[in-house]
Amino acid sequence: MEKKEKGKFCSYCDYSGIIYNPSFEITGENALSPCPKCVIPQCKCGGEEPYYYSDGENILPCFCRDTRMKIDRALEIYSNCGIESRKFKWKTINDFKVVNNLAKEAKNAAYDIIRKFPDVNKGLYLWGNPGTGKTLLSSIILTELVLHHAVKGKFIKISRNFFNLLRSTFIEGSERYGQSGLIEKELATVDILVIDDFGVQRDSPWEQETLYNLIDARYEGEKFTIITSNNNPEKSLKELSEGRILSRIREMCRIMELSGEDFREKS
Ligand SMILES: [Zn+2]
Ligand SMILES: [Zn+2]
Repeated sequence: MEKKEKGKFCSYCDYSGIIYNPSFEITGENALSPCPKCVIPQCKCGGEEPYYYSDGENILPCFCRDTRMKIDRALEIYSNCGIESRKFKWKTINDFKVVNNLAKEAKNAAYDIIRKFPDVNKGLYLWGNPGTGKTLLSSIILTELVLHHAVKGKFIKISRNFFNLLRSTFIEGSERYGQSGLIEKELATVDILVIDDFGVQRDSPWEQETLYNLIDARYEGEKFTIITSNNNPEKSLKELSEGRILSRIREMCRIMELSGEDFREKS
């Protein structure tokens, strides 16, 4: 993981060498670009892959090369991270509106994670009534971390994506037949995982066990995890798997409430 290199980059790009352009879809520019103040002035390759230049005698790697390769990697990871909805994709911390004190605290926690990553020891468990921005805030954290650090991240809706995906691996003829181990392993080991809409069908021991295994594997691997749920975990998870899931979650996530008025646009 790259640390902030104060000597190499400047404060304009927060010492990352990379600038995010939030209006790229309107202006037709790239979402991420090398910093115009500290990288571009030293670029001699013109941004042509594989980012080498000739000094007349030798072919040399360009100053911009690491930055441009990191951008390519970040964009590739982001396009496969599972955030599909336009409501959540490409959103950054400035897009999260503070409507009450709980939202303010949650935003501060998110900001802290974004600023300190990878030096953060706990993920987040955001719970509260629907429409308070839990999915938005968790998508924002994932977006910021993938785009700035080029670390692998995934967003899954637990009931719709996760269990459906796993079920399909048991159906003969399905594209994913026989891949349940692969999928579970990917989710257990990916650097950042957002588990959206965490809630469990209590009548299915298979689902409980699968979920516990996922949480447990991420706990053991000390992997950064963000969970959103409509329910207070202290109540809803108390009896689940004899409280094992709750105790793991308490240790790996900071539990925060995000409740209030449903501010989604009525459509
Ligand atoms: Zn810069
Ligand atoms: Zn260059």
